[in-house]
Amino acid sequence: MPVYALACPNCGHEYCGMVLEGTRPPPVWECSECGSDQVVLKPGAPVLAHPWEQRDYHSACLCCAPKAKSGLSM
Ligand SMILES: [Zn+2]
Repeated sequence: MPVYALACPNCGHEYCGMVLEGTRPPPVWECSECGSDQVVLKPGAPVLAHPWEQRDYHSACLCCAPKAKSGLSM
């Protein structure tokens, strides 16, 4: 899942937009602050991998880490 660095020329808000795996980046990004559709990819900004895809982060991810056995005997 690539994460794009985005910048809104309207209000100056900068944020990251994540593209879900298997989907394309939308043709227009909408600013999460002011709702402007003039948001552009920050020039020169690298496309980052989502932190969940990094190995170090994986063990800290509560939803992905294997859950400890609760002691139930099924
Ligand atoms: Zn904005």
